[in-house]
Amino acid sequence: MPKMRKKSDLPVKLCAACGLPFTWRKKWERDWETVRFCSDRCRKAGPKREAEAPRATSSSPRAS
Ligand SMILES: [Zn+2]
Repeated sequence: MPKMRKKSDLPVKLCAACGLPFTWRKKWERDWETVRFCSDRCRKAGPKREAEAPRATSSSPRAS
């Protein structure tokens, strides 16, 4: 039985900036859970203004 690899097997998220779906990429394998934008460009553009209030990320010790 052939193993079919679909693109849809990969996780997909909606970009918080442009709203388009983007697919898991190798470079995000470590922080896929925190990825919110499809590209650096969108990351710089930032999320659209919506009801979502910015929360302090839960316990991420990145001080100093
Ligand atoms: Zn985007």
